[in-house]
Amino acid sequence: MGDVVVIGAGIAGIQAALDLANHGIIVHLIEREPSIGGHMAQLDKTFPTNDCSMCILSPKMMEVARHKNIRIHTCAEVDSIEGGVGNFTVTVKKNPRYVDESLCNGCGDCIQICPVEVYNRFDAGIGVRKAIYKPQPQSVPDIVIKDAGHCIECGLCYDICGLDAIRKKEEETTIKIPAASVVVATGYMVFDACRKAQFGHLTLPDVITSLELERMINVSGPTGGNVIRMSNGEVPGSVVFVQCVGSRDMSIDRPYCSCVCCMQAIKNAMLIKEKYPTAEITICYIDIRAYGKGYEEYFGRAQAMGIRFLHGMPSDVLADRNGMTLQVENTENGEVCVLYPDLVVLSVGIGPSDSTAAIAKRLGIPLEESGFIKPVNDAVETVTTIKPGIYIAGTATAPKDIPDSVAQAGSAAMRAFIDATRTRSA
Ligand SMILES: Cc1cc2nc3c(=O)[nH]c(=O)nc-3n(C[C@H](O)[C@H](O)[C@H](O)COP(=O)(O)OP(=O)(O)OC[C@H]3O[C@@H](n4cnc5c(N)ncnc54)[C@H](O)[C@@H]3O)c2cc1C
Ligand code: SF4
Ligand code: SF4
Repeated sequence: MGDVVVIGAGIAGIQAALDLANHGIIVHLIEREPSIGGHMAQLDKTFPTNDCSMCILSPKMMEVARHKNIRIHTCAEVDSIEGGVGNFTVTVKKNPRYVDESLCNGCGDCIQICPVEVYNRFDAGIGVRKAIYKPQPQSVPDIVIKDAGHCIECGLCYDICGLDAIRKKEEETTIKIPAASVVVATGYMVFDACRKAQFGHLTLPDVITSLELERMINVSGPTGGNVIRMSNGEVPGSVVFVQCVGSRDMSIDRPYCSCVCCMQAIKNAMLIKEKYPTAEITICYIDIRAYGKGYEEYFGRAQAMGIRFLHGMPSDVLADRNGMTLQVENTENGEVCVLYPDLVVLSVGIGPSDSTAAIAKRLGIPLEESGFIKPVNDAVETVTTIKPGIYIAGTATAPKDIPDSVAQAGSAAMRAFIDATRTRSA
């Protein structure tokens, strides 16, 4: 049997790797970040069950780490791929971590002593991290990485590490992996809300994105689970969600629906209401798309909790020293509503990950006009590409929720498995 390379270790890549490995295939899981997990690791709860996201994801991450058939390559990207189905050679570039993975035990002493604090991308910009850090609270592998760009070479971490695991210098390395087939699960990136400058993201402190709210509402996040106004640290008395920021918008060449934003807004509105029952919450929307199993009922629960659904979109967020103002025409009755929220949450859309175009070019597979990877057929061949032996899964192909990403990963794994079992090991 041949090996399989899975590119991207979000929930889709993790599920594909586990399905293959559990059927005896050796899987090389390539992740460019220092930990596996992808976006699901950033979420607090997941709709429509409100299960804790990490309570579902973390056991899968641990299973990947312990699985005898899975080789995890973090800080790694595919440089090139040659050959065809049954005998690909995948060249993987491993970027320096500046920490010896075989020595570090993740004790965190170096993190404690490091004097440098920088913006934390995992916390969507709300929290800070050190120059030597663990990428997320439950990282896999559970070891640190040194950010050479921000390290001031004070030397404190080298001295404190009893295992001599930290490196001043480390070169990029490459490895060549023979593989029968490849699954691409490179995921998504959220829309950059600054492109819709009229909503004030990064210019008004109390305008945040939905992903930033996910980190804020998460007990292991930078505010310990408290939803606060960044301007004064107080709990907001009123919150307005603005839907479709970066979705269904021809003015920015984003005509498509991002699928998950309505449901995540309903989810987070309910979570805020549960935590702060007196908070007034309004969701301004074009349409509510509650298309999945149990989603309509979930929407109904939110309405029953007193969350207001306002059919109309504000054109901007205005601010003066008295606070923020949004004007919305209710398209159901033509009435103009004026809202004065303490906190505005922009429900940002989903676009292809920034590496998608490059990876598609290297693999010789086409993209959709939207930039997502194009399957052979959107009706019945959603995981196959025009190139035999190369399969796709999750949000790398289109916006979708976790259940659909997992289902597609299983399907891609099955196709990759068939190729692997037809291939004799080298
Ligand atoms: C605010 C918000 C809330 C959400 N809430 C929910 C919810 O409650 N329930 C729900 O079902 N869905 C929710 N979603 C959607 C959910 O996040 C996605 O369905 C799911 O995370 C998709 O997983 P994925 O593996 O396809 O992509 P990702 O999680 O993006 O994983 C892709 C992985 O590939 C890696 N990668 C990218 N490029 C490369 C490369 N070139 N080489 C190697 N690795 C690479 C990335 O680093 C990442 O680890 C939400 C989305 C948002 C934005
Ligand atoms: S590098 Fe050393 S001090 Fe830092 S977490 Fe690893 S073992 Fe601990
Ligand atoms: S050498 Fe760099 S990473 Fe280590 S403690 Fe000093 S600043 Fe932090």
